[in-house]
Amino acid sequence: MNDKQVILPGATLGVLGGGQLGRMFAHAAQSMGYFTAVLDQDATSPAGLVSHQHIRTGYEDPQGLTELASVCAAVTTEFENVPAAALNQLAASLPVSPAGSAVAIAQDRAAEKAHFVKCGVPCAPYAVIETPEQLAAVNDALLPGILKTSRMGYDGKGQIRVKTRAELIAGWDELGRVACVLEKMLPLAHECSVIVARGRDGTIVNLPVQRNLHRDGILAVTEVYAGNLPATQVEQAITAAKSVAIGLDYVGVLCVEFFVLDNEQLVVNEIAPRPHNSGHYSQNALDVSQFELQVRCMTNLPLVQPRQHSATIMLNLLGDLWFKDGGDTPVAPAWDQILALPGCHLHLYGKVDAKRARKMGHLNITAATPEQVRATALKAAEILG
Ligand code: ADP
Ligand code: MG
Repeated sequence: MNDKQVILPGATLGVLGGGQLGRMFAHAAQSMGYFTAVLDQDATSPAGLVSHQHIRTGYEDPQGLTELASVCAAVTTEFENVPAAALNQLAASLPVSPAGSAVAIAQDRAAEKAHFVKCGVPCAPYAVIETPEQLAAVNDALLPGILKTSRMGYDGKGQIRVKTRAELIAGWDELGRVACVLEKMLPLAHECSVIVARGRDGTIVNLPVQRNLHRDGILAVTEVYAGNLPATQVEQAITAAKSVAIGLDYVGVLCVEFFVLDNEQLVVNEIAPRPHNSGHYSQNALDVSQFELQVRCMTNLPLVQPRQHSATIMLNLLGDLWFKDGGDTPVAPAWDQILALPGCHLHLYGKVDAKRARKMGHLNITAATPEQVRATALKAAEILG
């Protein structure tokens, strides 16, 4: 196996995980002439539905992994909680990006924070809580704080906000006394993220800095246009994201999320070892999408710096929008009205059931200027209700 060899179109590229990120990866790979294979247990997974091959096993099934390795020229992941052991098994016979070692760090908030400290990138003050002794030793200065499970959290799940020591103790019980980190609650002015793509030869490129708005712990809106963030924060965020990726010797697409505090200080929040919801706008507002970059990274094709050609706003389409009439039967939003607006690009993930808080799709809105894109986004939001 030669990790540096270019894998040309016509080869089959594999992805662990069949969610929407895997689906959009498959679309990007296929449009460049690759075949795709997805490993996911679910018969109706969004990526499995659009892939040439769908291996229906869990991530820990050695036979499924062997089958994936036998049909693919390279493998990537769309799901960050895929066991590092699965990536390591695959890496014994074919190029895997990102590496199991990098994914293992992203899967564990304590390891992730230790990595930030090692890279000299500031993060929120925190304490690791794995034992009753560590709980008792927590410094009062970390309260009020957010108690987060070290593993398996996403979209605000596995988190409890705690104001007092009594709430902290009760919160750790509620989370099942699993390994956690307690983070000091910081005064956020806003949130932003940067997506970088790094190749095996160390070439690194970045998407523009995204400004993100979350609702109930789930990303709701991403805005990317000139002037949406102060220039100094943009520079700092890109530099910090690159040093986090380089410190991991990362190969692939990596998202680094940041908090911007009331005093304008930039603080890193967390990383995702894959394309990210906050980078979906790249499909329509950049000349290279984050999914194409994922393909280029895993095939050793050249990485080119993306160029933004439109001001853009991305609106996440959660299942809640299907229940606006208050009933229990899902009713899709008025796509015909939305698509009558200029610069609206609809992306739906082909999920079988609409459910509240489920990510069903996203709407990328593009325009020539920030004013125009904001005006269209307001109209779209009105139609969505
Ligand atoms: P997830 O893995 O679910 O995305 P995050 O750690 O990113 O978890 O937290 C989700 C959201 O909660 C963040 O985007 C932010 O809005 C808020 N949040 C998380 N940690 C803090 C903190 N230390 N101070 C203030 N707000 C926070
Ligand atoms: Mg997050």
